[in-house]
Amino acid sequence: MSVPTPLSEAQLVIDLAVTLRHDGHGGVADDLAEPAGLTAWVRERQAALPVPVGYTADAASLTAVRELRAAVRSVLARAVRPGEPSPADAGQLLPDAEAVALLNAAAALVPAAPVLSWPSGADPAVHQEPAARAPAHALVTAALARAAIAFLTGPDRVTLRACHGPRCVRYFLKEHPRQEWCKPSCGNRARVARHHERHRSTGR
Ligand SMILES: [Zn+2]
Repeated sequence: MSVPTPLSEAQLVIDLAVTLRHDGHGGVADDLAEPAGLTAWVRERQAALPVPVGYTADAASLTAVRELRAAVRSVLARAVRPGEPSPADAGQLLPDAEAVALLNAAAALVPAAPVLSWPSGADPAVHQEPAARAPAHALVTAALARAAIAFLTGPDRVTLRACHGPRCVRYFLKEHPRQEWCKPSCGNRARVARHHERHRSTGR
């Protein structure tokens, strides 16, 4: 019998980072450009975030989460060094100390307590739950910041990579030692690009 695994902190952090994505035309699209985008993103992750059913983002929550995402993408860029960061925001990364301070400030918005869960047939697991009442926007921002801190200090950080497939701007967690791309389609595009490159250089 398989026990459904909740969205891991690492996956939550990656999901937040990749809301900034390749738009299919050589540019960058932003899933969190409008409050409605954040509303949809949070509702899809209702099980992993301490928000009431029917959560709806407003402009202030959007600003807070976008600021947090900038900090998260900055620490992800730092975590993949000496590799190159995602090209989506490589020119606008926060200084290391500023990104860390922003994460810590966001995590401190709502005090949290560890909660143990141990379903039969599964390993014991801990997650953090808000220990005080707080507005939904603070709950979301604080939970995402705590997930980022847990990810950075946990075992998954060393598997983080920025994909350098043609036009790709994704961060991903490497699942096996030889994995070079976020998805097979990025590897295929890279092979096609290399093939054309060789053809150009040898075909004249
Ligand atoms: Zn990719």
